[in-house]
Amino acid sequence: MMPDSFIGELKSAGSELGVQFIDLIGSLSTMHELMRLDVRLLDERTLVRHALIALMRNQDMERCSLFLLQGERLVNVTGVDWDECAEPLGLEPAVRQAVSPLEFGVGEGVMGRAAQTRKLQHCRDCKNDDRFAAKGEAATGPGCLISAPILSGGELMGVLNISHPHANHFTEWHERLLDVYCALLALMLSNSRLLHQLEGAVHARTLELQQALDEARTLKQRFEALSFVDELTGLYNRRYLMPQAQTAFVRALRYREPLSVMLLDLDYFKSINDQHGHAAGDEVLSGFAAMLQRESREVDILGRMGGEEFAIVATVTDAEQVVKFAERLCQAARALTVGVDALRLCVTVSIGVAALDHDLAQREGWAFDNLLAQADRALYQAKREGRDRVVSSSFP
Ligand code: GH3
Ligand code: MG
Ligand code: MG
Repeated sequence: MMPDSFIGELKSAGSELGVQFIDLIGSLSTMHELMRLDVRLLDERTLVRHALIALMRNQDMERCSLFLLQGERLVNVTGVDWDECAEPLGLEPAVRQAVSPLEFGVGEGVMGRAAQTRKLQHCRDCKNDDRFAAKGEAATGPGCLISAPILSGGELMGVLNISHPHANHFTEWHERLLDVYCALLALMLSNSRLLHQLEGAVHARTLELQQALDEARTLKQRFEALSFVDELTGLYNRRYLMPQAQTAFVRALRYREPLSVMLLDLDYFKSINDQHGHAAGDEVLSGFAAMLQRESREVDILGRMGGEEFAIVATVTDAEQVVKFAERLCQAARALTVGVDALRLCVTVSIGVAALDHDLAQREGWAFDNLLAQADRALYQAKREGRDRVVSSSFP
């Protein structure tokens, strides 16, 4: 900004050159203020209001107002009177922001013509100008008026009006200034709209993604509920094992084939969790499950029943063979060490086994659950007798 004393000197000099110099500095100040507006931070109405204030502050005009194209109509978005510009930017009282909702049709009045022709309309003496729609309001209307179209890539965005109470106040200089100003304003408006459209699109996309994520989560939960595989160990879970075991049991009973079941429960497993943490416990469970898988045959039905309890349904395996198998697993568990950080964790396992007694099962009409219950009692006994051992229900 130029110091007032300097402007005063130029004015009093009264030369044409001095006046033009002041106009030039005023115009540059307008552009400078306009360029400093941040389209990212302001909504459209605030943006144009600040832009109009930047214009009014540096020019001698009474009022300016902005109409934006909404459908087929030019609708008044905001207007600024000269006395509002004395107030600091952004602190306009709320009452000032209320704008009369004026509307014009394209082609209607001076402004409508600017919109229709896409050309600036300069009404030097409104009271004697046919284009001025409010000619009848001679007493209240402005002395002169310029309506300038706001164009973006040839497309009409709106119209800017500036007015002064005296006729013939505006010159060619104002016309040129408005041309440049409107081009910049159009650019800012386009950028602002593009930015908000983008923000809207990003918001919509984020919502879509969130929805997709929620759906995926629901699907995952549903899948997990239907899943037959235990996530931690990769073994079959109880949901899978039980019907498989029941089928194998019915088949073995019908064809009088041997079938045995083994329940395995890690000893003092709680203390592993307590001493080394749940994650270490998980590692031990995984390591133990991997060992079971290595030691089992393909025909065995192997699964995690829950927690630190596992089951093996060994088809074509009689009482003697299943005890040997269980002893081997007991031994393998003892030899197993699971590395967790610098530690090497060890476990032992207690195993209860039960082999299918065909005569008893036929007589009493057994289902697989009866055999499982036998194995469970044997396991309980193995625990009672000191753990790290095999107890068979067939060999009391
Ligand atoms: P016992 O020799 O009598 O079987 O003693 P225990 O400590 O093994 O038996 P208990 O039933 O008291 O404890 C079982 C523990 O297994 C308690 C529970 O927190 C733990 N556990 C169950 N499922 C998991 C799992 O998925 N991960 C881990 N880390 N721990 C588990
Ligand atoms: Mg247990
Ligand atoms: Mg246990």
